[in-house]
Amino acid sequence: MNPEPAAEVVVFSLGPVQTNCFIVFDRKSRECVVIDPAWEGERLADEIAQRSLALKSVLVTHAHFDHIGGCAALVARHPAPVYLHPADQLLWSVDGGASFFGLAIQPLPPTGPAFEDGMHLRCGALDFEVLHLPGHTPGHVGLLESARGWLFSGDVLFAGSIGRTDLPGGDYAALMASIRNRLLALPDSTIVYSGHGPETTIGRERQSNPFITGSWG
Ligand SMILES: [Zn+2]
Ligand SMILES: [Zn+2]
Repeated sequence: MNPEPAAEVVVFSLGPVQTNCFIVFDRKSRECVVIDPAWEGERLADEIAQRSLALKSVLVTHAHFDHIGGCAALVARHPAPVYLHPADQLLWSVDGGASFFGLAIQPLPPTGPAFEDGMHLRCGALDFEVLHLPGHTPGHVGLLESARGWLFSGDVLFAGSIGRTDLPGGDYAALMASIRNRLLALPDSTIVYSGHGPETTIGRERQSNPFITGSWG
């Protein structure tokens, strides 16, 4: 019988565009982080309480409204610092562009510490490295738990696709550089938890993602 894993990823697909939100926790210390509190902050807060977890921090891959819509309700119940890259602060200040899509989200709390490329964030035995991955937005980051081979890629890389670059601040060349220089440098076995859709691996995307292979056949 396999021992229970020391850490766990709980995935929710929430909100108007089914954005993935992750509660990642260390079983022993019961500390957790929430990556992209996408929507339904009350439901996320309930889940944390039901599992007897302590929210250490909220990690925002980027400030599009569909990744932050549940942030206010979550931190109202479980106060914790909200990490964001400074290059997405402008987007945060306009509610992630919600009104652009005819939607509204609860007023956002102030952000806390700024993400910096290469910084490490601890949560119990978990260690997340911050990778600055501009292109989808200027301040997009990925979160890499290298000991477990987990990458939380936000809207940079999806199973079979890549993030859109037609929204304000988008930059296709920057996005492709982020993918090629940073993500494809990771081991093939790395599990990619994307902002939308199913999980994949770096190896699978390297071989079959048409935006990477340049082949649509
Ligand atoms: Zn996005
Ligand atoms: Zn998204």
